[in-house]
Amino acid sequence: MAIMIKTRGEIEKMRRSGKAVWQVLEEVRSKVVPGATTMDLETAAEKMIADMGAKSAFKGYNGFPCVLCTSVNSEVVHGIPSARRVLREGDIVSVDCGVILDGFYGDSAVTIPVGSKVQPGVRKLLDVTQASLEQAIQEAQVGSSLGDIGAAVQEMVEAAGFSVVRDFVGHGIGVKMHEDPQIPNYGRRGQGVKLKAGMVLAIEPMVNAGAAEVKVLQDGWTAVTVDGSLSAHFEHTVAVTEEGPLVLTR
Ligand code: MG
Ligand code: MG
Repeated sequence: MAIMIKTRGEIEKMRRSGKAVWQVLEEVRSKVVPGATTMDLETAAEKMIADMGAKSAFKGYNGFPCVLCTSVNSEVVHGIPSARRVLREGDIVSVDCGVILDGFYGDSAVTIPVGSKVQPGVRKLLDVTQASLEQAIQEAQVGSSLGDIGAAVQEMVEAAGFSVVRDFVGHGIGVKMHEDPQIPNYGRRGQGVKLKAGMVLAIEPMVNAGAAEVKVLQDGWTAVTVDGSLSAHFEHTVAVTEEGPLVLTR
């Protein structure tokens, strides 16, 4: 396993691609309203990526047709935007976006509630998933291990009564979208690869309100919970530095 170490200059470039992703996600967030379709989000994102002189990391990746993954309610990840998928008050939609700018990738995801009436149980799922990402980011320190990141997510999620998805994981990122290492959202403290300055990690907890099992639909992409429970997903691209974790996608 060859984990690429980025120079400070390369991390600076990745900060630009990360910022571009953040800007796209903020634009998309403003479009998430009852009655919008997931294709409306795709259209806004595609225009913004082009306007910034960036390229989509997703469109064409293994044949994926869009610049966003939009995963509604029990969809976990890799949902395909559609003009037929109308967002309703009370839905949640995970929006995942990756771009390439100046040869470097950025990758980030947020799960956004549709409308203003968020049920308390749904709010808790979103809050716990986001908090588990923030906790995992704090573990991305020189000398820590990958197991510390996975354990941080798993402990917080399971303490809240939710389940960590095991079939999909985070990843190293840089000149490719998916570099080594794989970053599971479960693990044991002190185990796995030791983190070094210059590693850049896409950390992305995927959390189900019910059981952990997921399956992929007939479209070959959309992953859903087997039990139909809601699922949330948050992701940041994070550089490990001597000064601590540096979140590049905000
Ligand atoms: Mg992503
Ligand atoms: Mg990712």
